Amino acid sequence: MSHMMRAVVIARYGGTLEVTHCPVPRPGPGEVLVEVHASGLCGTDLHLLSGRQPLGTLPRIIGHELAGEVAALGDGVTQWHEGDRVTAAIDVTCGHCRHCLTGETQRCLAMQRIGFERDGGHADYVAVPAANLVTVPPEISYAAAAILPDAVACMYHSLVHQGKVGIGQRVLILGAGGLGIHGVQIARSAGAEVLATSRRWERLALAEESGALVVNTKDQSLETAVATFTHGDGVDIVVDNIGTRDSVRQGLSVLRPGGKLLLVGYLDETLEIPSMRFFKQEQEIIGCRGSTRQDLVEVVRLVQSGRITPVIGAHYKLEQIDEAAACLEAGDLVGRIVLTR
Ligand SMILES: [Zn+2]
Ligand SMILES: [Zn+2]
Repeated sequence: MSHMMRAVVIARYGGTLEVTHCPVPRPGPGEVLVEVHASGLCGTDLHLLSGRQPLGTLPRIIGHELAGEVAALGDGVTQWHEGDRVTAAIDVTCGHCRHCLTGETQRCLAMQRIGFERDGGHADYVAVPAANLVTVPPEISYAAAAILPDAVACMYHSLVHQGKVGIGQRVLILGAGGLGIHGVQIARSAGAEVLATSRRWERLALAEESGALVVNTKDQSLETAVATFTHGDGVDIVVDNIGTRDSVRQGLSVLRPGGKLLLVGYLDETLEIPSMRFFKQEQEIIGCRGSTRQDLVEVVRLVQSGRITPVIGAHYKLEQIDEAAACLEAGDLVGRIVLTR
């Protein structure tokens, strides 16, 4: 192993994403050095570059979705071995705050996230706590495993943990993009009926293949589609992957009384709710952030058994990070972008 590696570093906000060279990290006590084989590029990475989501201390290696093999062990790590195929849960949690102690680790009060407050996986190597690692079985490729911690596990956390989706329910997925397409698969897998929206037919075609009814909100009425879908009842769950005033207003307007709107997107800084209707109908808006290690464990199982298929829209090499970012920005991809090594 050489002492230097390639990494995508944000040294200042603005500019472009590019690969630079920096030292290979040393795994601290309880940590594992992972040789990264693939990492997922997320829209959030672009927000980090622009500074819209500040990182705290710079410079920082970004990349919060990764898969690879164990390359070295820090002191005290006994349960992993060199060569083990792994992915990693994003949240590094303290283990002793009141949320960690009650198993709600996604609300840890002292959380640091891989690729945010800690160095991440758009690099040749990353050091992560052994407690974050999850085994990737041989039938799941590194590229597919690389998009599980966020694009898939986040939808799993939203629908299963926060939304408690169940058999026979009717789910509306607003925004069948990189996250939403996995939301379709997860809701279908849970036995729900799904209606998915997008303004792009290519995305809707894939959502349809995954078992959803679809509506192109560019030129079709969502209200009419939902009325047909639910025989006038309204949907049980809305997954809002967009998070604008419009999407929340639309989502609430087609939600049944007592239904849940799962807020995953956050494009507008503030949202509006129709207070009287919301109050009378006892609807719920539930924030959904990230995923837990256990969510990731369960997602790996679902992929292994073939019930969920990670959707990769494009592969780029790590050096092509700027091209990959431009492709993501252009927004006409179906599925996630994976950076291979
Ligand atoms: Zn992300
Ligand atoms: Zn904690």
